[in-house]
Amino acid sequence: MSFDLAQLQATHRGAAQSLHRDHVNPKWMQALKLIGFDHEYVRAESQYLWDAKGNRYLDMIGGYAVCNVGRNHPVIRKALTDFLASQTPSMVQFDASILPGLLARQLKGRVGRDLDRVFFTNSGTEGIEAAIKFSRCATGRPTMLYEKGAFHGLSTGALAMNGCESFRSGFEPHPKDFRALPFNDLVSLERELARGDVAGFVVEPIQGKGVNVHSYGFLAEASALCHRHGALFVVDEVQTGVGRTGSFLAIDQEGAVEPDIVVLSKGLSGGYVPVGAVMTKTAVWDKVFSRLDRAIVHSSTFHMSGLAMVAGLATLSVLEDERLAENATQIGALLRNGLEAMKPRFEFIGAIRQRGLMIGIEFAKPSSLTLRMAWRMIHALDDNLFTQAVTIPLMQDHRILSQVAGHAIPVLKLTPPLTISSDDVTDFLGAFEKTMIGIHRFPGPAWDALRRIALNSLRPNNAAPKIAQELDVHQAASEWLGESDTTDQRTDSRK
Ligand code: PMP
Repeated sequence: MSFDLAQLQATHRGAAQSLHRDHVNPKWMQALKLIGFDHEYVRAESQYLWDAKGNRYLDMIGGYAVCNVGRNHPVIRKALTDFLASQTPSMVQFDASILPGLLARQLKGRVGRDLDRVFFTNSGTEGIEAAIKFSRCATGRPTMLYEKGAFHGLSTGALAMNGCESFRSGFEPHPKDFRALPFNDLVSLERELARGDVAGFVVEPIQGKGVNVHSYGFLAEASALCHRHGALFVVDEVQTGVGRTGSFLAIDQEGAVEPDIVVLSKGLSGGYVPVGAVMTKTAVWDKVFSRLDRAIVHSSTFHMSGLAMVAGLATLSVLEDERLAENATQIGALLRNGLEAMKPRFEFIGAIRQRGLMIGIEFAKPSSLTLRMAWRMIHALDDNLFTQAVTIPLMQDHRILSQVAGHAIPVLKLTPPLTISSDDVTDFLGAFEKTMIGIHRFPGPAWDALRRIALNSLRPNNAAPKIAQELDVHQAASEWLGESDTTDQRTDSRK
């Protein structure tokens, strides 16, 4: 019998979760269930997803900032199907096909800055790994600098530059010669550079975790400092690039920044095919690919696959035709203004950080007594728990996907497709307002959802030391969780 995708999908409709639980990642399935994100989507278009019952969901995550041009864009879909129909060979390896050259030229046209060589990758992480190798090779030095709070991927080298302990823990020893700097700190950067062993400083213009924005001038001055000390300045635009922040690169809004390497990925895929690009100065490239026998000294089997190149080319075209970076600027401002207007009414809303359609809503300790106690109690259990009291009702009551994006500070993060409209903003703001009203009522249903998570996911051994640090909330937290309830719920979760 020949392979029939439509039939395969039809005969397994409704089985996605059990298949995933049994054969892929049972813990992830459990987590999705717990926060009520265990939906099976059957269709997607632009910024919307639909389940089998025909319910529509507004996607404010955008596949982790991947679907910049919206899901299943007809132009990209057609380009990919045209490519498949054309039977153009891909991955011949010992050839030079037309598509990588075209995509590299298009990227250079948008990025400029004398970043004249392009190495293609299959992911953001691979781009970062390449940047580490290229920096060391170009300078002959060992050390890579990164910022606390950074996220550059989870492979061994990228993980050594990950600023979040929860990702690092359990995978020690991490490679040496990676040193962390405080966020946004030029003095520390200069002190580290002065040691003379630094190959490169890798930095996200806006940190994805927490949506932390550097102060204006930091990136320009950091690049100048790196060059003064013979180190490379590497900009990780994996998340911020391809129009996300309102310009092609986020550094386009940051004055005289002079990168030696820029890493792109995510949005370049059109939401379809993994692809990334490491753009370097010729001088850097020539150190790495220095002789004929080193012409492919850094490479990977799939790194210029035809489908990936087509996805990249079509994405750049759509981004421009539909002026999506401009839309990100306009719609992002609309969202920000709406959120700022709500701020005085809700004690829990802290700083709002926004650049284009990369938005972080930080939650802050409230001032009134009851809410302050509730806040401390939740934080005694887990630093990131509070934000789930926002993501859960946004999904449950309003069918909006959003995500937690903090380390120690609770932050709700929004990275929707750049196609969202002012109507979507109105819908989101209405839903967010209702959610805020709910969470400012303690006790109440929003807090019950947190209690359910705490009971199921926080092992007493984990929670106890944190609670003990805050003795005055210990009693309240244990009463709120309730011992007999705890046992019942844990038994349930094992069923
Ligand atoms: N750098 C940044 C800034 C990222 O946000 C990510 C992914 N979240 C990566 C690197 C890693 O990219 P990937 O998941 O495609 O490997």
